[in-house]
Amino acid sequence: MLERKVVVGPFQCNCRILVCPNTGHAMVLDPGDESQKILREIEKAEADLKKKIQVKYLMHTHGHLDHIAATKDLKAKLGAEAVIAIHGDDEPLYQQLKMQAGLFGLPYGDPDPIEKRIEHEERITLGDLKLDVVHTPGHSPGSVCLRLHQDSATGASEKLYTGDTLFYLSVGRTDLWGADGDLMFKMIRSRILTLDGDTKVCPGHGPDSTIGTEKKQNPFLS
Ligand SMILES: [Zn+2]
Ligand SMILES: [Zn+2]
Repeated sequence: MLERKVVVGPFQCNCRILVCPNTGHAMVLDPGDESQKILREIEKAEADLKKKIQVKYLMHTHGHLDHIAATKDLKAKLGAEAVIAIHGDDEPLYQQLKMQAGLFGLPYGDPDPIEKRIEHEERITLGDLKLDVVHTPGHSPGSVCLRLHQDSATGASEKLYTGDTLFYLSVGRTDLWGADGDLMFKMIRSRILTLDGDTKVCPGHGPDSTIGTEKKQNPFLS
């Protein structure tokens, strides 16, 4: 599998482009800002792969502005084929992009409509790549992680994209609208830390980690 991380916007969100090397089908995960920078990375990935990339999903771990602000621009460039997807419980947040941005003096307008509402345990296929939706509410009501399955045909390894729920040696904020700290910790323990220790953790901000490292060293989880 081909993966590219682009750090975007004033909040330094890790936007990731995941590509199935066999089909060129791709997902942009958390397009938080700087659509031009993301589009350039897609072009670079096409050059690396020597294959046309088709973005099938504009996917979001949750509806905070630093994960959704470039979605509209990308949709305009990539067209109908790139489906805007997010968990339904974060629809209110997603719809409030303009208001969220206003709090920081950022000039974002209203978002495009959500086209797909993802659900817990739903499987997303991306060519030969398989990702499962893991609903982990707490940081926001519709926060999800995406679990990528190991696959020798694509070279994919076991990974969990954790958005703002779990970071390297840290966890998400729970003081924002709709947050629930107790629920977030419950979800981290029951739906994240139960995965294999070798599973790579790919957060929405900052460096990557592993489940094993977080279990042993995360001070918020001891
Ligand atoms: Zn967030
Ligand atoms: Zn964030």
